[in-house]
Order: sequence, then C-alpha cells, then structure tokens
Amino acid sequence: MNTIRKTPPQNIPTAGPSPEAAAARREAPRSLAGSVGRALRGRCPNCGRGRLFASYLKQVESCAVCSEPWAEIRADDGPPWLTILVVGHLVVPVALAIVSDGRLGAGPTLAVSVGLALLLCLLVLPRAKGLFIAAIWALRAR
Ligand SMILES: [Zn+2]
Repeated sequence: MNTIRKTPPQNIPTAGPSPEAAAARREAPRSLAGSVGRALRGRCPNCGRGRLFASYLKQVESCAVCSEPWAEIRADDGPPWLTILVVGHLVVPVALAIVSDGRLGAGPTLAVSVGLALLLCLLVLPRAKGLFIAAIWALRAR
C-alpha cells in the first residue's frame, strides 16, 4: 500500500536564506574599497566570486555564490556621467595633441578621436556601473 505523507518533511532547506541569516548579512560591515575593487573586475561586490553582470550592462538578480540581491540596486545616471567625465578627460588632450602636431588632417584626427572615445566608453561604462552598484551597496545608500 502506498502511504502519502500529509505533513511536509522537516530539515529540508527552504529557498533562500533564513530570516536570521539575512538580517545578519544586512548588518555585517562592508568595505567600500574592497567592494568597489571586486565590482571593477565584474565580480560580486560582496563575495568577489560570483558575477555581477549577466550581460554587458545587465546586473544579475542575485549572486550565484552568496545570494546577495543585486537587482534592487539602481545606479541610474551615475555610470554614464562618470564615463563621460573619464573619457572626455582622456580623449580631449589626445585630440588636442594630434591637432597641435599638425601632421594629421581634420578627418583623420576626427576618426582617431571618435574611435578612441567609443572604445573607451565601451570599456569604462560597465566598470562605472559596477563602481556605483558597489558604492551604493557598501554605503547602504539605497
Ligand atoms: Zn556574491
């Protein structure tokens, strides 16, 4: 005869951390420099082992290693602002140096400047987003 258990079995872990573990994790000290450093490498600011981004700029819902939730942190306009600031300060001096050198015409100077700006934007933007996510998380500024 087949017996069916009417009560759920005990000691089976539920999905997600216990409320006590989640509260302890929220109260744990967070290093700003350490979390930013991990995020600049595209890693989870909390543990440094899981990935922070599911794609180029889309952050993961939560870390696959430590389960820290990342989807609720919104960096908004901070990463584009920082990217423009950094890339502008790198590209403009290079463009001015090329122009003052006088060996390249306006067309090649423009091509080099725009190409360099696009490449730097693609490199800086995800790191800037990671920086803002890590800073918001470490400073508990949500
Ligand atoms: Zn993690």
